[in-house]
Parts: sequence; C-alpha cells; structure tokens
Amino acid sequence: MVYLTSAYNTWVVIASVLIAAFASYVALDLAKRVRGGQRSAALTWWVCGSLVMGTGIWSMHFVGMLAYSLPIALGYTKLLTAVSWLAGVGVSAIALAIAGSGTLTARRVVGGSLFMGGGICAMHYLGMAAIDLTVPIVWNPLLLSISVAIAVGASAAALVIFALLRHTDPEHEVRYQLAAAVVMGLAISGMHYTGMAAANFPTNTLCLSAHSLAGESLGTLVINLTLLLLSLTLSTSHLDVRRRLAISLQAANDKLQSANEELQKRALRDPLTGLPNRVLFEDRLALIAAHKARVQHGGVAADRKLAVLFVDLDAFKPVNDSYGHAAGDQLLVQVASRLRRAARGCDTVARLGGDEFVLLLDDLSSAEDGERLAQRILQTLTTPFQVLGHEVQISASIGIAIYPDHGDADTLLVHADAAMYAAKHAGKAGYSMFEPHMNADARERLSLQNDLRHAITLSQLALHYQPKIDGIHGQMIGVEALLRWRHPERGFISPAVFIPIAERSGLIKSIGDWVIEEAYQQMHAWARDGLRMSVAINLSPLQLREVELVTRIDQTLAKNHLDPSQLLCEITESVAMDDIQATQQVFDGLEQIGVFLSIDDFGTGYSSLSFLRQLPARQLKIDRGFVVDLETNADARAVVDAVIHLAHALDLRVVAEGVETEGQYDILRRLGCDEMQGYWFAPPMPANQLLEWVMKHQPASATRLPPAEPCVRTPLYVIDGEVLPA
Ligand code: C2E
Ligand code: MG
Ligand code: MG
Repeated sequence: MVYLTSAYNTWVVIASVLIAAFASYVALDLAKRVRGGQRSAALTWWVCGSLVMGTGIWSMHFVGMLAYSLPIALGYTKLLTAVSWLAGVGVSAIALAIAGSGTLTARRVVGGSLFMGGGICAMHYLGMAAIDLTVPIVWNPLLLSISVAIAVGASAAALVIFALLRHTDPEHEVRYQLAAAVVMGLAISGMHYTGMAAANFPTNTLCLSAHSLAGESLGTLVINLTLLLLSLTLSTSHLDVRRRLAISLQAANDKLQSANEELQKRALRDPLTGLPNRVLFEDRLALIAAHKARVQHGGVAADRKLAVLFVDLDAFKPVNDSYGHAAGDQLLVQVASRLRRAARGCDTVARLGGDEFVLLLDDLSSAEDGERLAQRILQTLTTPFQVLGHEVQISASIGIAIYPDHGDADTLLVHADAAMYAAKHAGKAGYSMFEPHMNADARERLSLQNDLRHAITLSQLALHYQPKIDGIHGQMIGVEALLRWRHPERGFISPAVFIPIAERSGLIKSIGDWVIEEAYQQMHAWARDGLRMSVAINLSPLQLREVELVTRIDQTLAKNHLDPSQLLCEITESVAMDDIQATQQVFDGLEQIGVFLSIDDFGTGYSSLSFLRQLPARQLKIDRGFVVDLETNADARAVVDAVIHLAHALDLRVVAEGVETEGQYDILRRLGCDEMQGYWFAPPMPANQLLEWVMKHQPASATRLPPAEPCVRTPLYVIDGEVLPA
C-alpha cells in the first residue's frame, strides 16, 4: 500500500518537547506538594495538579500532532480530543497519587508505570483517533509496541526520579529536578513521535474532521494557554512552599520561644515550690540594692531599708526520714505557701534548696519591720501541717540582715545565714538580727570545719572521762566519755564549739564512729587492768539516723569482749524530742542488745511525760542550768525535786550534772538524786589520770578491782564487783 508522506514543523516539534519538559518539571513539583503538608491541602494539590499536569502532557501531545502535516488537510474531532485530554488528566491523577503515597516500592513502580503508560498511550491514540479518516490508519506494529514500551518506561522513570529526588539535598534539588524534567520530557516526546511514526496514512484517505479543531492559530493558542497554566501553577506552588515554610518557621519559632521560656523558668524557679531560686533571688537582691545605692547617692529615701530573712526549718530531716520524701516535699510546698502569705505581695520569697528559704523585703521603714515579719512567719508555722495524712509540727530559725546597715548585696545573704545560725544556736524556733561578731563566728566556723576534717587522721581527738558518783555511797559508778579536740594552734577546743560544726558538715558520723571505737578500746584496756568500767558516750542526732548504728555498737562490744550493760548512750532531750520516731527505733534497738540509754540535759527540751514513758531509757540527766541555782533559788530546788519524783515514778535513775559545790551535793542527796557528776568530784580527765584519780580518791574500790569478767548481760551498773541497782 502507498502512504501519504508526512512532514513536521520543526519549531512546533521543539515547542512540544519544551512543553513536555516544562510539564514534567511542574509535575515533579506538584508531586512534592501532594506529598507534604496537611491532608486537605494535599487533596487540593492533587486535584488541581492532576488537571494542570494532565493538560500539560496532553498539550505536548496535541501540539505534537499539530506539528505533523500531511498532503491532506487534518483536523481533530472535539469529542475524542476532549476524551484524550481526560485520559491525560487521569494519568496525571494516578501519577500524583502514587508519588504522593508512602514509600515507593518496586511493586508500586511496576504497577504504577503500567497504569500510567497505559494512560499515556490511551491519551495519545485517542488523540490520533480524533482524526476522522475515510481510510483508517495502517499501524506499524513494531513502532507501535516501541511507543507503548517508551510510555511505560517513561512512567517508571518518572516515578523513580521522583523517589530519588526526595533524597536529594535541597541545595541541588532544582538542578536535579530540571535534569529529571528534561529526561521525562524527552521520554514523553519520544513516545509521542514513535507513536506518530507507527501511523501510516493511505494515499486515498481523507480527513472528515479537517474543519473541526485545526490550524496554526489553534496550535499557538494551546501552546500559550498551556505555558500560562503551567507557569501559574508553578508560581502558585512556589508561593505555597514559601507560605508553608513561613508557617513552619513561625511554629518552630514559637516552639523555640516557649522552650526558651520554660528553660528560663527552670533556671530561675524552684521546680518543687515554684518559688524563685537562688539565682533569681540573688539577681533581684543585686538589682534592688544597686537601685537603692543610686537613690541614696542622690539623697532620696535614704531611710528606706531592705531586709533579707534567712529561714531554715528546724528538724525538717526527721519528717523526711519518718514519713518519706513525698511527705517532705509536700511539707516544703505548704511551708512555701505559708511564707508567701505571711509576706507582702511585693516581697520576694525564694527557696535556696533543702529546707532553706529566703525573703527579700524592700522599702521597710525600719529594721523592726523585718523583725515583725519574722515573728509573723514563726507564728504562721505554729499551726500544724497536714502531710499525707500525718499531722506535722515544725518550727524555723530565722536570721535577719538589713541593707545597708549589715552589708552590701554581696554579703547580705551570708550575714542573714550567720544570723540564722545564731538563732539556731540560741535554741531554735526564733529569730536573730545580724551582729558583726556573727560574721566572725561564721568565718571561724568555716576555718574550724576545714581543720576538723583532718582531726581524726592527725590524731588530734581524744576522749576525757568524768566520773559519775553514786548519790548515797559517794562511790564512782562509771564515767562519761567527753570528746576533746587538741587543735595545733588553738589548743583544746570544747565539744560545745566543734560538735555543732561537725553536725552541720556531716563530719559527726566519722567522729561519732571514732568515739565509739576509742571508748571500747579504753574499756577493754581498763578491763585488762582489772577495772570493769561503765562508760557513757554521747550520741549525736545524725548518728541516730544511721541504720547500722545498733549493729556496729553490738559488733564492737562483742569484738572487745565487753558486756553491753557497761555501755550507756546519752542523747540530749531536745534531740530525742526532735526526732521521736528515729529515737524510738534506735532506743529499741539498743535496748534489745542490752545497752542502756540516758536522756541528757533534761529540762531544756520540753519533754512530755507521755513521751518519756514511751522511751526505753534508764536514766535522766538533769541539766546543769538547774543545778547551778540550787543553793540560791527555791524555784530551782522545786523543779529538781519535781524532776526527781517524776523520774522515779517512771522508774528512771536521776543524774545531776555540773555539781560544783558541796552545798549542791548536799541538796541533791537530800532530794534523792541517784548519781552526780561535776567538778566538785572530778573534772573530765584523760584515761591514765582517771586511773590515778581512782587510786587516790576511791582506794577501797581501786584495791579490790576484780579481774575482767566474761561478758554477762545484766542491766545493772557493775563496778568493783559491786552490783548497783539500775
Ligand atoms: P554533756 O553531755 O552534757 O556533758 C557535760 C558537760 O558539762 C561537759 O562539757 C563537761 O565537761 C561539763 N561539766 C562537767 N562537770 C561540770 C561542772 O561541774 N561545771 C561545769 N560548768 N561544767 C561541767 P563538754 O565536755 O564541754 O561537753 C559539752 C557537750 O558536748 C556535752 O554535753 C555533749 O553534749 C557534747 N559532747 C561531748 N562529747 C561528745 C561526743 O563524743 N559526741 C557527741 N555527739 N557530743 C559530745
Ligand atoms: Mg552527756
Ligand atoms: Mg549534759
């Protein structure tokens, strides 16, 4: 058969290839839009994208058809042209849906490219069918198959290119997208022109649709409209990217800002109570003080004061230990809110950590205003707290420092702390106004604390022993071990000075252990010399909280072959009262291993009778303060008399400490005091001197010292073989 000779308008061909590449570029762009962003936006992009991309591909095909000419006039039927356009849109919809869905698997690529290839072929050959011919086209099967293969291959390439494009870094994205678009444009055009080459028009054919869609002006119109549509879509797409970028940047910015605010809050606030922390407090203090300094420099409001109140809870740790940390935390939160309520709205209430709070009071007319607030705080704390079902009573010690009277912004807090320490020392549950000597005290404490750290290793600690005398027979019935620190420069330092420092710094634990060990070794040494000595040691509150205290005492006793009844543990009344639960536990534990217990400094800690009854103590030591006045003060006598009666009623032995005169001794004896201790009999002395003292003052007992006895668990004082009732 003879066929008509076909020809191409080169410029239109080039235009069709460019349109194909441009449409591909836009298609790749749209695929990204469908992929990212919100669901509704993706859906809109999918619909619009399918229309635009479909039009683009179709337009390439249509323009390519218009570039083709035969010796006969050609035209296209409207309906089939419209259907071929629809096929183009359909193909694009599938392509965008696949590209926009999850990961591109090999299966998806194969399935997708078959679908898309089919769609492109449908579009192309429907477009060809729009040429209404009298004699049908004769197809070259090979070229036809190649065109189908190119369509499927181009679709697969498009999908793979899109998948690869996703992993390209943004910097090179446009370049890759351009290259991909050119490849895809060429592939689509390749398919088209191969398809055209497969078509042979017999010479005797005529085109019935020559007067429908045809002509150069239609080609120009389609090209222009398509380019306009693609350009509009591309710029809209880019604008949308920018808008989304701006939104996500804004969102990221907002997030960053709120994260920053949160960080700042955390950096400046105490997370438990929400109060300002030390950093914020010190910052405010510095700011207000600087402002005050400036104002005062100008001579204005020079009389307005600034006060710092340092509030430290008394005996907070026992609450934590007894009821658990959750209870401790709740208590701190409640204390914080009471402090807030006690303060004025303009005051800063901060938590420094642990049970330490500080208040910054500005614009006070006098220092007394600060004291009044301290009183209010003490008052507000007197109401018991309800903590996890427990009723908790707590007090605080408060130190006050005033600006500018007591220092500048840098020293005010330190001075308020020193004043607080003085308040604690003065018996807790009170306040102290800063005085210059407190500062020196604080420095001294720090230097002593540093030296104390090495006191054990440098063998600067020693135990001195003070005899305890039986009130009726006047015989020594035991000793109290009292700690001494031989400071290389300051000489002997009283435990009344360094024990509180050791307690505050935690050093008391190792010191306490040393005392126990040293006392046992001495008892063992005396036992070897035939002196079976009862020794009392003083326990600190921190030792009472050591779980292993009882076991350690028991093991050390056994190691030194000592009878537990030879040991007496003294614990001050206020400590016993501070931490009733811990005291009770340790007392019970010690009683179980046969060690006696004694309440020291009785009369200073407001013990309740019922509490005393609960404790398995054997002995009660009347504080020296009552003994001092015995000879001169009838009230003191009445108190001591009452205490002795009370103690005896509770089956406790009474010891009077600090007996310095014969008069005191006589009165105490008459009042029925069981034991006495004081300079009148003997001062505390080193172990070797004590032995000499025993020989000299208690010769009868000293000469009759029996050899060391095997461990006998008896709840009685035993000395010199003589058994005394407990
Ligand atoms: P304390 O247990 O009440 O000891 C009695 C204090 O009174 C001792 O003071 C003693 O030397 C002193 N003293 C004895 N007789 C008289 C007297 O007739 N007149 C006067 N004015 N004082 C007398 P010291 O040795 O300075 O101890 C003070 C406190 O230090 C002790 O009071 C005790 O609570 C504590 N302490 C002593 N050694 C230790 C220890 O090893 N561990 C612990 N945790 N605390 C200790
Ligand atoms: Mg004592
Ligand atoms: Mg005492």
